[in-house]
Amino acid sequence: MRHFAIVGSGPAGFYTAEALEKAYGGEARIDILDRFPVPYGLIRFGVAPDHQSLKAVSKRYDKVAESTGVDFIGNVTVGRDVSIAELLDLYDAVILATGAPHDRKLGIPGEDLPGVVGSAEFVGWYNGHPEFADLDPFLNGPHAAVVGNGNVALDCARILSKTRHEFEGSDIVGHALDALDSSAIRTVTILGRRGPHQIAMTPKELGELGHLEAAVPVVEPGDFPPVEADDPLEPGLRKSVTLLRGFAALPQDKPKRIVFDFFAKPVAIEGDGKAERIIVEKTMLDDKGAARGTGETYDVPASLIVTAIGYSTSPIPDVPFEGGKFVNQNGRIADRLYAVGWARRGPSGTIGTNRPDGYEVADQVAAGMPGGGSAERPGAEGLKRLLCERGVMPTDYDDWRKIEESEAGRARPGSPREKFVRPSDWFSVLGR
Ligand code: NAP
Repeated sequence: MRHFAIVGSGPAGFYTAEALEKAYGGEARIDILDRFPVPYGLIRFGVAPDHQSLKAVSKRYDKVAESTGVDFIGNVTVGRDVSIAELLDLYDAVILATGAPHDRKLGIPGEDLPGVVGSAEFVGWYNGHPEFADLDPFLNGPHAAVVGNGNVALDCARILSKTRHEFEGSDIVGHALDALDSSAIRTVTILGRRGPHQIAMTPKELGELGHLEAAVPVVEPGDFPPVEADDPLEPGLRKSVTLLRGFAALPQDKPKRIVFDFFAKPVAIEGDGKAERIIVEKTMLDDKGAARGTGETYDVPASLIVTAIGYSTSPIPDVPFEGGKFVNQNGRIADRLYAVGWARRGPSGTIGTNRPDGYEVADQVAAGMPGGGSAERPGAEGLKRLLCERGVMPTDYDDWRKIEESEAGRARPGSPREKFVRPSDWFSVLGR
């Protein structure tokens, strides 16, 4: 029997477990470790709460977790409770699927002023991530700005603009729903340092902005090149740009506005002890398509600024790390140590992109390590012994089911769950 440890229970971790289970057909035990007793990582804490159809992919992960060769081991922080060297002693291979949970920084003056939050923090706050439950984003001013032109920027702008009614059926946590419901924000400016042809927003997500109950998207037609210039664009991007162009024709008859401000590079954040405005420099594209400052600056009022400019992975002691992810070659970090998903390739692609990624790494593992091999490492048995010596109490999949049931039981009508946002609440459900 082979023993594999996958560190991280988000999409990349679960697809890799599914692939290893298939590759070894019953001749491997696969443990999916997570620092929390609740699985699914990005699906639980990152995917927008009003995108329940995307979250439904967790049903597939449930099947993986319920299969005989796979176990979920929660409440274990690798790098703190157990080292990578120890895991490599206990398991035949270790696969890091730790995602990219940290915000990249803008690196401009004023970024640390109160009122400026990273999208990981803001998204974590409305999605019930225990580390961001107390974020208390400033929603009392009329203006907010979101920096970045990717799908996360769209998520943040949409969540800031929806009515309470529009959150029906979502699993946005109660504290965020109440705060957003009494928010004073009327204008959300989405700042892109490049132009409409350089957005990283996908059509479905962009299209949603055109159908909001109380908010209307606003674009400046002068920011767009002539319409013929859209022809050579890749079809998905062309569709997004067409949608953006269409926003110009929408009636401006709603109380809230989501303003797309292109060619606007943040250079400073200012305010008297808290964010009040973001200073942006107008840009032009150079011949390589990069944003070049023109020297002309202007102010965008904003007492809440959400930076949505990409994420980085958490380093783990003794694992080579560079540029926000683990140093790897096609997923291989070192002998018997691999990375998958965002920890491998950085924060790009959709949830589904992690499937081929996980399968590819599982194939590599299986190619170098046939089933029924001679090496008998103790796997979970050894890990649990070590954790017990250290006073760490791991949780299992049945524990998660108890938490899940309890969260479903306290849900608002029409909502699938009301998440617990304090680890103490998870453990009290488990009677610990
Ligand atoms: P992203 O797609 O990489 O977008 C990051 C944005 O930040 C880009 O517009 C980038 O502009 C901008 N940016 C980077 N550094 C900047 C700086 N210093 N100043 C100003 N702007 C800066 O990242 P993301 O939005 O965080 O999304 C991460 C991944 O998750 C993506 O693959 C995304 O599609 C996916 N996702 C999918 C969904 C969905 O399918 N519903 C939802 C959320 C996220 P430049 O292009 O100029 O660098």
